[in-house]
Amino acid sequence: MSGLPELVLASANPDKAREMVELLRGVARILGRPAGLGEVEETGETLEDNARLKALAVSDFARAAAVADDTGLEVDALGGAPGVLSARYAGPGATYADNVAKLLGALAGVPPPARSARFRTVALARWPDGREVIGVGVVEGSITTEPRGDQGFGYDPVFAPSAGDGRTFAEMSAADKNRLSHRAKAFAELAAGLAGPGGPPSR
Ligand code: IMP
Repeated sequence: MSGLPELVLASANPDKAREMVELLRGVARILGRPAGLGEVEETGETLEDNARLKALAVSDFARAAAVADDTGLEVDALGGAPGVLSARYAGPGATYADNVAKLLGALAGVPPPARSARFRTVALARWPDGREVIGVGVVEGSITTEPRGDQGFGYDPVFAPSAGDGRTFAEMSAADKNRLSHRAKAFAELAAGLAGPGGPPSR
């Protein structure tokens, strides 16, 4: 038995789940998403709304504390799009490759200095009594003109963080991405909240 809080994972996306488990190592004991729970529709207007929808659905279903993450890519030349719609940018059921292709098409002819963008993640833990702890993480960067690298997932092949060495997230090991990423920052803030006075209810 560890003294760590137990959180049920609300993410159905195995790529995100893998990073979340790694980022919460030593912070919380992570339990798998309940198999009987269907997909939760992300109908919120903000990342926080969607993170809450997912955490609430899982904590209601499992009658236990749950942790969710919602992430958006905000591209300045596109007025902040795709933002909260990042998963469905190329339409319902879009693959990672579809979304990347649509993004590169939308930015065709936009020169590198104007390709600034950021990833934003909201990490949200919710208890059945309604208590929540939230962390937000942002990483600034730019959209490359072509995909590079085969690590990571989603928009990683076209996002080069400003704090890095020019590599896209998809050209980095998982450990290197986890040192810089939006998700790492959001989960560090969540971890601080879990450890602080607003932390989890004692059981
Ligand atoms: P959601 O948080 O699952 O709604 O993800 C929104 C969209 O952003 C999906 O298309 C993900 O593939 C993508 N995404 C989420 N996190 C990352 C990341 O860390 N790197 C690249 N793409 C991501």
